[in-house]
Amino acid sequence: MDHEQTLDLLPAYLDQELSLSEARDFERHLEQCAACRQVYEQHRAVSTQLRQAALRIDAPPDLLPRIEAALPGRPASREALNQRLQRWLGSILPARSTVWSPLGAVAVSLAVLGLSVNIYLKVPTAEQRLTQELVDDHVRSLQSNHLFDVISTDKHTVKPWFNGKIDFAPPVIDLAQQGYPLVGGRLDFLNGRAVAVMVYRYKLHPINLYVWPGNDAGASAKIFEQRGYHLAHWSTGGMNYWAITDAGAQELGGFTASLRAQTQS
Ligand SMILES: [Zn+2]
Repeated sequence: MDHEQTLDLLPAYLDQELSLSEARDFERHLEQCAACRQVYEQHRAVSTQLRQAALRIDAPPDLLPRIEAALPGRPASREALNQRLQRWLGSILPARSTVWSPLGAVAVSLAVLGLSVNIYLKVPTAEQRLTQELVDDHVRSLQSNHLFDVISTDKHTVKPWFNGKIDFAPPVIDLAQQGYPLVGGRLDFLNGRAVAVMVYRYKLHPINLYVWPGNDAGASAKIFEQRGYHLAHWSTGGMNYWAITDAGAQELGGFTASLRAQTQS
């Protein structure tokens, strides 16, 4: 996890909203990075301070309608909302705040709150959340030793195993000849639905292939890195495919190419 990711996740960490593995990555970065640790300490101090009742200020009655009006979700309107919030925060700071120390504290708190609003508004997109969910699930499947519900190198065993467990028939393809033997399958719950997972190996590296109905991506596989893992995402034949592995980008590229050669009819 780098500085930017750490600072992105900071509000969620303070609110205890991170997954176990995200929280661990976050803490690991904090242990090694004095700069991020300092930002974290500042935010923690401010959130403690803001919880004191004496520092609470009632929001003006027209704030909520203004926020709602600005909320269709487009980046431009988020920016507008952000500016309005900043303006509002500026307008409620009393002029004598510098001489009266409790109000001085409020001023400092509000300035940092303004920064936090900025961070909070950088809400991850649906695809970013899904990517995080995939990495978490992949890591969990390795840690908990729950790679398979059905262990088999035979696609004729794996394919019928899914019958009656999910409402679609995932393509189960063996790629042993291409260097990616099928080793099993399992059911997982991801993105709010049950998904089929086919487990392959490249040498000693497991590759989890997640499949569910949909057409969210283009037909050509997009390969990228997240938290040290390589992911590929594409759609074909009415199915969404996500592959994830700790093997290299090139090896994953070979896997997706071999698989796509057999799923594109
Ligand atoms: Zn850092």
